[in-house]
Amino acid sequence: MANGEVVTIEQVLKMAKEYLDEEDVAFIERAYFFAEKAHEGQFRKSGEPYIIHPVQVASILVELTMDPVTVAGGFLHDVVEDTDITLDEIKENFNDEVAMLVDGVTKLEKIKFKSKGALQAENHRKMFVAMAKDIRVILIKLADRLHNMRTLKHMPPEKQRRTSKETLEIFAPLAHRLGISTIKWELEDTALRYLNPQQYYRIVQQMKQKRNEREQYIESVIDLVLKQLEEVHISADISGRPKHLYSIYQKMNQQDIEFDEIYDLQAVRIIVNSIKDCYAVLGIIHTNWKPMPGRFKDYIAMPKPNLYQSLHTTVLGPQGSPLEVQIRTKEMHSIAEYGIAAHWAYKEGKNLQSNKKSFEEKLTWFREILDWQNETNDAEEFVESLKMDFFSDMVYVFTPKGDVIELASGSIPIDFAYRIHTEIGNQTIGARINGKMEPLDYTLKNGDIVEVITSKHSYGPSQDWLNITQTSQAKSKIKQFFKRQRKEENVTKGKELVEREIDDLGVSIPDALTQENIDRVVEKFNFNTEEDMYAAVGYQGITAAQIATRLTENIRKQKEKEQALSETIDDVQHESHDRPKDDSRHDSGIRIDGIDNVLIRLSKCCNPVPGDAIVGYITKGRGVSVHRADCPNMQSDEAKSRQLEVHWKSERRENKQYLLDLEISGFDRNGLLNEILQTLTEMKTSINQVNGRSDRNNMAIIQITVFIYNTGHLQKIVDRLKQIKDVYTVKRVIQ
Ligand code: MN
Repeated sequence: MANGEVVTIEQVLKMAKEYLDEEDVAFIERAYFFAEKAHEGQFRKSGEPYIIHPVQVASILVELTMDPVTVAGGFLHDVVEDTDITLDEIKENFNDEVAMLVDGVTKLEKIKFKSKGALQAENHRKMFVAMAKDIRVILIKLADRLHNMRTLKHMPPEKQRRTSKETLEIFAPLAHRLGISTIKWELEDTALRYLNPQQYYRIVQQMKQKRNEREQYIESVIDLVLKQLEEVHISADISGRPKHLYSIYQKMNQQDIEFDEIYDLQAVRIIVNSIKDCYAVLGIIHTNWKPMPGRFKDYIAMPKPNLYQSLHTTVLGPQGSPLEVQIRTKEMHSIAEYGIAAHWAYKEGKNLQSNKKSFEEKLTWFREILDWQNETNDAEEFVESLKMDFFSDMVYVFTPKGDVIELASGSIPIDFAYRIHTEIGNQTIGARINGKMEPLDYTLKNGDIVEVITSKHSYGPSQDWLNITQTSQAKSKIKQFFKRQRKEENVTKGKELVEREIDDLGVSIPDALTQENIDRVVEKFNFNTEEDMYAAVGYQGITAAQIATRLTENIRKQKEKEQALSETIDDVQHESHDRPKDDSRHDSGIRIDGIDNVLIRLSKCCNPVPGDAIVGYITKGRGVSVHRADCPNMQSDEAKSRQLEVHWKSERRENKQYLLDLEISGFDRNGLLNEILQTLTEMKTSINQVNGRSDRNNMAIIQITVFIYNTGHLQKIVDRLKQIKDVYTVKRVIQ
């Protein structure tokens, strides 16, 4: 390739004539004149007329022996982007294919390459390949970039660095993938010059110093090998092979070694006519010089993912210094240099590029090679990206800012909107595609620039959207919207129903809807939130009555209790008119805080005495009866709902005695009852009543009703009774 030197249009046409017929040359010449006229008056940063750039790009494509359509595309590649010429005019003046290539390059131009590490670069590469409906778009783009790199010195330093970085991260790897090593190397070397000038010029210097030495060495190798090949009648092209700066730089960096230590700087390439000759040459090389272990690679049997084929070996050459040898056929060499471009090379007859079948055959062949080359993931990914391109189930579109959005093919602007942001999706009311208003069900095409029109006043997606969207992302977000919207409605409705129900129960709504009550009920019914609870009422998963009943139960119980109590008090107050007040016989020894004048009785079932834990029970119309807290009759929910706190006036008060039933069991012997009664008398305990019986097992059961001051008094009596011989148990009786 003519590095750096400006090629004239005459030279380009001359080169083209070597492989194109007159008609085709006339075609590309017309493209040149069209471009020249379009760019008239435009200049590059270097001060040269702009047309020089497209001419250089076209010349690179001609060097790759590309077809006339691609070369014309090279001439015209900046016309739509930088002048007033439209795609339609290109179509009219040339043809659809040229217009398609120019359109592809123009769109690639708009892509912003952000270098956010390898992943980003990978995404872009994938997209890059997929964007180009035709790989020739990428070939034009690479030629464009190559010439831009060659003229990068006219750009400001900041731009030089940015462009070089992008070149290293995006374009050189792309050229590598496509096997176009001539372009790859030049891109890399040029980028290095701007990114690390010190290292670059140091390597250049060192290579210069060794040049003579190296050239002599290579000459001697070539002479010897050629002589031996003549003897076996193999014709070959042998040349010294310059190493590329960037690969030396990489090696020095990756292996942390000095320039002198890179031993394979001595390298020759041997090009022969057949694969058989390749292996024959390899034999001769290995006979002359000792091969270095682990350095032989057969890329003929196992091509690289980018189609590269060759034999590689390193031997200890003349003077015992390492010599790298590459052996390949002419065809392999062409692929090694031009990669996929070699397959596009215009040499198999006219219109081949438009011939779909041949195109796909090539692609299949290409893919097969990649498929059985499992060396790296790269191959897989590349096949993936090719699939996406040619058997596409994806569509790639742009945001107005030039970001690329990947969507399932068949996607519509609504899919795009939801991909950007859920809220944007929900508020979408229209779409502008490539600057033109289109319906929301417009099917997006590769390269469309999509602008979504939203409104804050939008009522949100319509049910229809579920049918017309393609991406599962959009569908699920639309469903979510409806679910949430319905939920909001249900919450409002549910809350109303519950409030009405509370009101019907005669409870004030604010009293019932305390956070405490709500939390309790939410937990009771296993809802996650208050909203969920109301929503459930709204869609009738649960009735408002169920919720309202639970919400008000504490309030209602409290109310019932208060009501019962006030009725009781009324009764007692009514009674006390007829009866003398304050009769000590009627003093129960119990007080109820905040209430006077209520009739209090000690229950007969459990006979509480001072010291016992007690509760009051609001009877229906018969005052409050006082029970022991552990009285079995006080344990039901019903009983508990009517209980209130009561207190002994004094546990130590000894002038009041309480009746209490004791049951004593023991062996029925003579004198047992007497002993019990005697013990009670000794303890100055009055007896109210005694009953005794004996069962068939000679077990005596004695029930005694005694007067007790308090639990302390009771405990002493029980302790004493239990000391009597033949007494087994003593217990309080609860009827
Ligand atoms: Mn350009």
